[in-house]
Amino acid sequence: LVSRENHDSRSVVSVRGVPIGGEHMTLIAGPCAVETPDQTLEAALMAKAAGAALLRGGAYKPRTSPYAFQGLGEAGLKILADVRDETGLPIVTEVVDAGDVELVASYADMLQIGTRNMQNFALLQAAGEAGKPVLLKRGMSATIEEWLMAAEYIAQRGNLDIVLCERGIRTFEKATRNTLDIAAVPVAQNLSHLPVIVDPSHSGGKRDLVLPLSRAAMAAGADGVIVDVHPSPETALCDGPQALVGDDIHELADAVSSMSELL
Ligand code: PEP
Repeated sequence: LVSRENHDSRSVVSVRGVPIGGEHMTLIAGPCAVETPDQTLEAALMAKAAGAALLRGGAYKPRTSPYAFQGLGEAGLKILADVRDETGLPIVTEVVDAGDVELVASYADMLQIGTRNMQNFALLQAAGEAGKPVLLKRGMSATIEEWLMAAEYIAQRGNLDIVLCERGIRTFEKATRNTLDIAAVPVAQNLSHLPVIVDPSHSGGKRDLVLPLSRAAMAAGADGVIVDVHPSPETALCDGPQALVGDDIHELADAVSSMSELL
């Protein structure tokens, strides 16, 4: 279903009218985690001012450490919905448990499946039945074939509105949080008709790497980028060092729009 074989052209996924894929380079931005109404609104306004088309933000945070901030849950979803009403930006948010899919889908415009859950098959199937587009992150230790098979689980349940997201993989290299597998962009696009975007924030793990990795993603033909922004990263409850601030997001948005003009 997700293979390129039976599709003449590449797909465009619409998230509340915002296209991902085709002749577009989509910028998705927002806080790593929803922390407070003010922080989420400020991050969303930063994203919107820079030209982002969709707002990201986690209400359920699957953290490596059980002692790290786990997200606000439904309270976070409500904040996201309020911020959508205020800014008009459709929201992309993660769901980590099959039992929560219906609840998250009742707030979200797009469901995100994170790297740690890429092979949570019950979750993939539930997301496939939720009636919302799905952003499927590549598992940090998954091959491209395994990633596409995970997408197939969603598609099998009748949902072909899937966007693939390369977010870096585990390698021996420690200088970056994960190693951005830039080749995964054209490889996945050749094997599948689904749009492919890149997360330079979670792959690099450092603010200074977000712009160069985004440029690399765009040069490789990615259909968009998803980045973390935060009004005060030094106080962020999650992944502050990789969050863009102030002018950074404008610089990135300029790079995205110059690339869109070339498409
Ligand atoms: C995220 O985007 O909030 C996230 C946790 O990403 P990943 O699943 O790629 O680590």
